Amino acid sequence: MVTLEEAQRILNAHVKQTEGTKECSLSEALGRRIGEDLAARTDQPPFPRSPLDGYAVRAGDIRGACAQNPAVLNVAGELPAGVPAVQSLGPGQAVRIMTGAPIPEGTDAVIRQEDTDYGEEKVQIYRSVKPCENICFQGEDYRAGTHIIRNGERMDAVNIALAAGMGYERVRVRKKPAVAVLTTGSELQEPGRPLRPGAVYDSNRYLVEARLREWGITPFYAGRIEDDAGKAAGCLARISKEADLIITTGGVSVGKMDIMHDVIERLGAERLFWRVKLKPGSPAMASVYEGAVIISLSGNPFGAAAGMELLVRPALYHMTGDSALAPVRQQAVMENGFPKKSGSRRFVRAVWASGMVRVPEGSHSSGSLSSMKGCNCLIDIPAGNEGLCKGDSVWIILL
Ligand code: AMP
Ligand code: MG
Repeated sequence: MVTLEEAQRILNAHVKQTEGTKECSLSEALGRRIGEDLAARTDQPPFPRSPLDGYAVRAGDIRGACAQNPAVLNVAGELPAGVPAVQSLGPGQAVRIMTGAPIPEGTDAVIRQEDTDYGEEKVQIYRSVKPCENICFQGEDYRAGTHIIRNGERMDAVNIALAAGMGYERVRVRKKPAVAVLTTGSELQEPGRPLRPGAVYDSNRYLVEARLREWGITPFYAGRIEDDAGKAAGCLARISKEADLIITTGGVSVGKMDIMHDVIERLGAERLFWRVKLKPGSPAMASVYEGAVIISLSGNPFGAAAGMELLVRPALYHMTGDSALAPVRQQAVMENGFPKKSGSRRFVRAVWASGMVRVPEGSHSSGSLSSMKGCNCLIDIPAGNEGLCKGDSVWIILL
């Protein structure tokens, strides 16, 4: 038996850090971590432009203008967005300019059209402007050459838009680890058909796959295998060639049909540990086969769920360096009690909000999942605890 921290250290020492990048389209990069620095290829905006519809003017030409004494300028033309500013303006001239159009040479400010008579050949201007007023300067967002996105950052909507604004159509993203999922148990049945006598629906497959997806990993499902060590060993031998990490559930306890021990022996895999000093999911096992690390979790739905958080997530964090997977451990105050004694270290599902943590009603057995609905943390209860009371300070791990 190892402690949780020992188990985590052993896993970290054996999992491979995922290396390499691949190219993909900007849309495909959403949610992924970028594998390169992205520098601006041009200034943004690339040219000085107007932030509003109005007239580009020389501020000096309309000094002192007001409604009673408007300045009058000749309108030399019109500049919509998307065309180059070819004209250069002389004194006494203005250009009708639209939002996003480049500021023409010779002008140094823009007057809002609402402060004019909207004139087409001549325009009356009812207000003065300061030089540079109403001009977006070239590079005011960022300058060419600036590293706007750094290697390793997550490509969220804003980063995707920034990359597009810098002209990137394709980017390099970091590769993700190849993670396989295998569920074992002769009683398991795929949802969708009425249960045969003695069977239960396989919920672990969906729990493990869904949690991996929530962590940004696309798992491949290797299948569901009955309690047959030969078949399970055959399956693991096949998938270990493609997988960096294999997660199995079921068959790790001490019963006659707990096949994973036999499976490891048949494969000649190296067992890293078996049984972790915690509840639930204490029979968890880890092994290495052909470079793939196999984490075998208890089949009990809450045991498997806790194993995903306590063993798989830290291992994936170590493999990817993805800060989103970094375990978050913090203190909280009990909002209600949890009277159960904990002989060994126990993790209890709970709901954390604003520093307070509440243990939900319902069954807390490792085979029950429904009380985990809405839970966002595990309370880490040390071995030998006599029960938690309202107001107790506890450590929690956020999910
Ligand atoms: P095991 O870890 O194989 O001893 O299984 C412990 C309990 O979890 C048993 O009641 C199993 O029927 C149940 N169980 C095992 N695997 C799954 C699964 N994939 N989905 C739902 N329940 C499971
Ligand atoms: Mg079983």
